[in-house]
Amino acid sequence: MAVQLNGNLVMLLSKSQLFRITTNPLLLSLHQLKLKNCCSCYCCCCPAYANASELKRKLFPRSKISYSSYVTSVIVTEKNQSSTTNTTKTTVTNICTTATKSGCALDIMSQKRFFHEGNIFNYSMQEPSFECLTPTSPNGGGLCDIPTKKYYRKAAHRIFVNRSLHLENIKFYGFDMDYTLAEYKSPQYEQLGFDLVKERLVSMGYPKEIMQFEYDPSFPIRGLWFDTLYGNLLKVDAYGNILVCVHGFEFLKHSQVYELYPNKFLKLDESRVYVLNTLFNLPETYLLACLVDFFTNSSEYTEDRTGVKAGELFMSFNSIFQDVRRAVDWVHIQGDLKKRTVENLDYYVKKDPRLPMVLARIRESGAKVFLLTNSDYNFSNKIMTHIFDFPHGAKPEEPHRDWKTYFDVIVVDARKPLFFGEGTILRQVDTETGALKIGTHMGPLQPGQVYSGGSCEVFTNFINAKGKDVLYIGDHIFGDILKSKKIRGWRTFLVVPELVQELHVWTDKCQFFAELQQLDCQLGDMYKNLDSSNKEKPDISKLRASIRDVTHKMDMAYGMMGSLFRSGSRQTFFSSQVVRYADLYAATFLNFIYYPFSYMFRAPAMLLPHESTVAHEQRYQIEAPMIQRARSVKADSIASTSGTTDNGGASELAAVAKAVHKETEPAEETTVTVPHTRPSTPRTVTHTHDEDYSEEESDPNNKSDGENNQDSPSAGKKEARKTPK
Ligand SMILES: [Mg+2]
Repeated sequence: MAVQLNGNLVMLLSKSQLFRITTNPLLLSLHQLKLKNCCSCYCCCCPAYANASELKRKLFPRSKISYSSYVTSVIVTEKNQSSTTNTTKTTVTNICTTATKSGCALDIMSQKRFFHEGNIFNYSMQEPSFECLTPTSPNGGGLCDIPTKKYYRKAAHRIFVNRSLHLENIKFYGFDMDYTLAEYKSPQYEQLGFDLVKERLVSMGYPKEIMQFEYDPSFPIRGLWFDTLYGNLLKVDAYGNILVCVHGFEFLKHSQVYELYPNKFLKLDESRVYVLNTLFNLPETYLLACLVDFFTNSSEYTEDRTGVKAGELFMSFNSIFQDVRRAVDWVHIQGDLKKRTVENLDYYVKKDPRLPMVLARIRESGAKVFLLTNSDYNFSNKIMTHIFDFPHGAKPEEPHRDWKTYFDVIVVDARKPLFFGEGTILRQVDTETGALKIGTHMGPLQPGQVYSGGSCEVFTNFINAKGKDVLYIGDHIFGDILKSKKIRGWRTFLVVPELVQELHVWTDKCQFFAELQQLDCQLGDMYKNLDSSNKEKPDISKLRASIRDVTHKMDMAYGMMGSLFRSGSRQTFFSSQVVRYADLYAATFLNFIYYPFSYMFRAPAMLLPHESTVAHEQRYQIEAPMIQRARSVKADSIASTSGTTDNGGASELAAVAKAVHKETEPAEETTVTVPHTRPSTPRTVTHTHDEDYSEEESDPNNKSDGENNQDSPSAGKKEARKTPK
């Protein structure tokens, strides 16, 4: 459909594109439509919408600008869909020629760009939207503002979904403590760890000068690899391709990286690479950079590729790493970290009054709650007492309760990830003294009691839980999430406190993302109308430099190492692990408060480039005739019984096969001797989309009325949670 507006603007739109384009605030600010004359039957052309205010209400609910002053007339030319292409091309060409003469043009068919009032605008057919190229579009461009039909909670309140999960099916909610129930305050907690490890290293013989290192929270991120051979911190993608390489504080150039790592790739070999997985690793991540920088730049040492030399002494980067690791473990286990933390809990540990409420609501929903932490009882007791230290209980009007009353089962000293494998001996803790009672606890696990160690196998037997009954919530991608999912099949929820900052940058700095999109459009423009017959070579050097510049600014907005989840357009190793192992993730589990415990978390589609850049609205004509592969369940079921009706392509396939057979074999009637000559189309769900999928929900044989009513609103109610015993 071609639409001419007051001779100034011409658009070629499909029904859905018109709606999506015209709800874009940027477009609205350009040319507000006022329909005067319509001759067609859908969207803006419908006589029912001819009334301008009605149209505005329907199509421009977000418009704040008076739109009646802009456009005075509309001429709509709609062509029959079957003859659209050629006729419309002619129409658009004619209109564009006229419009260009008067200083305005739109050429959507080929250029995807139009000029209006001295500004150039790009129109993306793939993701229907307009963006202003000159000058920079207001509010950082319209791309950030594309409205969505779907209702979402506020970004800060959201829980994000990698794999669909129905909370109704969860019978046990398990919690880690450190950085999950109890979030340590950043950066002061990292600063404390950093200072204590420095002290320990000096006591181990490291030079006193290292005490001068200052903790810089903008440097380290989780999930970096430390290459113990060359002493480099690496940010890598899912496969080990190096995205960022830092030697001390020096960010290596591409050529330097290639020199050290053929093809800019490093295999995840545990004998060489250490993955700094947890938030507890942040201080040592930065300290490793400090130490490598110190030794490689100090005049007393000369650098070798794998370490530093001072006279007869050779100190490998691996030995520095081992020393740091030992110092960190010492600080955590024997050193002052815990002591200093509990001495100043308000300074180091966050408290949130919603905590008792969320745990109580989980139990009110019929599920059970357990604590599974690696910390010992004495430390856990102090931390938990602190974070539950409110005058009220689960509700403002209820009195305070001991933290242990919020849990059905409490396990400390769990030794995860060992817990998910062979485990240790399960013992009961004397909560008066913190000492372990003698002997192995043979069960059952009593509420109000505290247990130490054990294994997942014993534990789940005692509580009578199957893998998918449990949702485990933790911050450690390896110890909490990967192992519980891989070994035990638990559903998983990763707590990523960094999401607060990540989402802030994602939204606050959206102009960088819009700028990148613009640059991509400009790059597309450079190559438009060029094909393999062209010998000219467009100069894209400036554009490439701009793309690099904007990408760098974007990375720096997150911090020195960039985003936890991406580097430019590439996803990080951490990102890939989150996607692979965490069913859900959020900045905090407290966001459960914003969802009912009957909630069905549904994963958004993970789009591949051929899906994310080709809009459904875009027509894709197959030039050569192809066999129809699509199957219609109903038609096929008829065909398979009658053997005559067309079944949406199956019979076509059979006919082709028959023809081929006739050509290659002598004409001879054969008797069917195989059970099935071809497969019949599956009539029910056979392709798994959800881990939550239950055959009982969709198997027609399980329906009491014998009907296949899996789409009915009542479907799935059979799976309602049974209260665990
Ligand atoms: Mg933890």
